[in-house]
Amino acid sequence: MSKNNISNDIKNKTNKCPYCDVKLNDTKLPFCSYCKIKISYCKKCGHAVSNNLKVCPNCGEKL
Ligand SMILES: [Zn+2]
Ligand SMILES: [Zn+2]
Repeated sequence: MSKNNISNDIKNKTNKCPYCDVKLNDTKLPFCSYCKIKISYCKKCGHAVSNNLKVCPNCGEKL
């Protein structure tokens, strides 16, 4: 029914801090400006992932 909403969601891919869930800006900071914890990014899809993860929760790429 809300087809547009789904495609918009994919287009506006916004990364969230994996720790505090705060939205990260376009600039990929190596840490969350809110909780100051270091963040890693998936090399394949650019998804923000916490350092203790071994695979990207978004695309399954090994980190
Ligand atoms: Zn954070
Ligand atoms: Zn990924």
